[in-house]
Amino acid sequence: MAADRRIVIENCSIATVDAHDTEYPSGYVVLAGNRIESLGAGRAPEGLENVDRRIDATGHLVTPGLVNTHHHYYQWITRGLATDHNLFNWLVALYPTWARIDEQMVYAAAQGSLAMMARGGVTTAMDHHYVFPAGSGDLSGAIIRAARETGVRFTLARGSMDRSEKDGGLPPDFAVETLDGALAATEATVKEHHDSSFDAMTQVAVAPCSPFSVSTELLREGAELARRLGVRLHTHGSETVEEEQFCKELFGMGPTDYFESTGWLGEDVWMAHCVHMNDSDIAAFARTKTGVAHCPSSNARLAAGIARVPDMLAAGVPVGLGVDGTASNESGELHTELRNALLINRLGAHREAALNARQALRLGTYGGAQVLGRAAETGSLEAGKLADLVLWKLDTLAHASIADPVTALVFGAAAPVTASFVNGRQIVENGRLSHVDEDAIARSTREQSQRLARIAAQG
Ligand SMILES: [Zn+2]
Repeated sequence: MAADRRIVIENCSIATVDAHDTEYPSGYVVLAGNRIESLGAGRAPEGLENVDRRIDATGHLVTPGLVNTHHHYYQWITRGLATDHNLFNWLVALYPTWARIDEQMVYAAAQGSLAMMARGGVTTAMDHHYVFPAGSGDLSGAIIRAARETGVRFTLARGSMDRSEKDGGLPPDFAVETLDGALAATEATVKEHHDSSFDAMTQVAVAPCSPFSVSTELLREGAELARRLGVRLHTHGSETVEEEQFCKELFGMGPTDYFESTGWLGEDVWMAHCVHMNDSDIAAFARTKTGVAHCPSSNARLAAGIARVPDMLAAGVPVGLGVDGTASNESGELHTELRNALLINRLGAHREAALNARQALRLGTYGGAQVLGRAAETGSLEAGKLADLVLWKLDTLAHASIADPVTALVFGAAAPVTASFVNGRQIVENGRLSHVDEDAIARSTREQSQRLARIAAQG
């Protein structure tokens, strides 16, 4: 939308998720170009010029768009497998199949993953992709293309693995890259695709997979590369008790100390899971402002445990929400993770005081933008920020009898999305994607899933 063209949204409840959790029971939002121009209580200002559209959002809650901070899109075509495994057994069961992926499969899987999230109110997405079999094509390019077509704001965390079975790691030898190959390909991806501007639609992060699938050199040199290029760093950390044992046996220290020793704590780092953290680990994250991608459904699916999110928030650790790969969270939805984060954390030490609805909404919006390094641009509704927002329909059977809209959104059933805007452009209308064909994507993901299963069965 041109900078002088406006969209006016009126008669809605608004949860801004700004620093004061400002809310308006009935208010308006004016979008101008790709920015939020103004918002507030009551009706929109009179006399606005160049208004292309006026949306009567009666019965809706408007929130910032959801931000997903951890995912593996390729897993969309290996959902529903190894369903009763812990992390290490699940990885060992799936690596041989994952090692057979190619560009066509990854593109279809990325389309499926993105479609599912966008339909549920995600406006900023990310993909941590770390399986690059030799000769598999331009996987990073395919993922970025799928994100552009869907219309979401996007971070590609260019992953890598170089510690295979022969070096004491978990992935099979043929599924990994060399140290130099991984670093060179990551640098090339940053140079080709990373945009550092204020309203960037595509960014790239440096993202070796995990302590048990990458060498110490790849972690150390990956951190140096990211800082030289001025991009963020992402990996998995402290996910399971087995990972903790692995780090103690191999490196003589727990995961957080190992990360610190390789340059992996800092305000430019965010890490998925962080389930097994003691008080000093949380203090180290807080001191360095290292971010966390909390993935409650995946942690439950793989019986990893419950991350100490209330303690992290109390200590000042930035925390966002993640779907995680859909081989360990088949739903692939982020809006339901608001509810799951709240419920699962109430099973932990803080019980009913663990998280409330507003904190859960903040994790899924502003918290996510913080860990992706984009909190100045998106994650809350404030004049001057990017026009990334969602209209949740709360006046139907599922929610109409719940008086408080934020409670309805978080505690209630997955709310329908009437409209979702990214950069001022609508990407969802009445639950359907505006720029891609959901039914065609469903068909191609099924075809590619079957193709991968056939190829993997041939060995
Ligand atoms: Zn993951």
